[in-house]
Amino acid sequence: MGRLQKILIPFLGLVLAFWFYSARDTFKPEMLRGKRVIVTGASTGIGEQLAYHLARMGSHILVTARTEARLQNVVRRCLELGAASARFVSGTMEDTAFAQHVVREAQSSLGGLDMLILNHVGASYFGFFDGDVEHVRKLLEINFLSYVAMTTSALPMLKESEGSIVVVSSMAGKVGFPFTVPYSATKFALDGFFSSLRQEFAIQSINVSITLCILGFIDTERAVRAAAEVLRERPAPRDECALEILKGAALRRRELYYRYSSTRLPLLLRDCAAELLDYLVRSRYR
Ligand code: NAP
Repeated sequence: MGRLQKILIPFLGLVLAFWFYSARDTFKPEMLRGKRVIVTGASTGIGEQLAYHLARMGSHILVTARTEARLQNVVRRCLELGAASARFVSGTMEDTAFAQHVVREAQSSLGGLDMLILNHVGASYFGFFDGDVEHVRKLLEINFLSYVAMTTSALPMLKESEGSIVVVSSMAGKVGFPFTVPYSATKFALDGFFSSLRQEFAIQSINVSITLCILGFIDTERAVRAAAEVLRERPAPRDECALEILKGAALRRRELYYRYSSTRLPLLLRDCAAELLDYLVRSRYR
């Protein structure tokens, strides 16, 4: 009986803690109603789906990417779906000045900002590292430095609204991936910058949440074109992925894993069996 109690009491404690934690954090679409949100890389893929979910939830949306014609369609669809307002700014994130311009546009047109969703990604190749240092530099500018520039410009508004920063990253930003060396490097950089910034926010009592999203293989056109032939796994749906990102952001989670089974679970091996994890990553490829 004594031994049973020793096991049962901690177990019940864990169950209660889990129940309390889950019950406390329940997502409701109303959480995003009326919120002023920037979504980058919203002309296609996950960013486009993020914009449509936000529209259904009644947010004010500012989308950005390079292709104006696509952005016009996204804005039109957002308005049909019920967005409180929707607008776009087109340009390239290779240019830090453009990244800052997008934030100023939110300030002037929305009067502030509640959520900054950093999602855009520059084109890269799928293959062995080719030694092109200039390509790595350019990709760092698009995938990393523009994220830093937008965050820096948006911070005064986010502090005022006690808002959120959402950083869309990848499994390739948590563990080394073959064939995407420059891309993987930019995603690791995001983890370093935003996880350190989160620490500083805690020290300075800055109530701005940072949600780092660790995604597996998602069925966007670009990803399927690049990797469907060589990856053994099936891609997860981009609309569901976008919804999970928004749930994690609204609940101010520090990290979001989608899908959990192909991201969080393998990463549990990182500290205790790193070589096994490397092997599992390599074995995803045909
Ligand atoms: P995607 O379909 O290729 O969309 C990328 C977006 O970024 C587009 O809207 C594109 O629009 C924009 N973009 C590209 N270059 C740009 C530039 N120089 N300046 C400004 N915007 C630019 O990508 P996705 O698959 O949805 O990925 C979205 C995010 O999820 C990325 O951060 C990616 O790393 C992450 N992720 C995706 C997967 C996956 O399997 N799909 C897996 C892990 C992580 P324009 O071409 O019009 O500029």
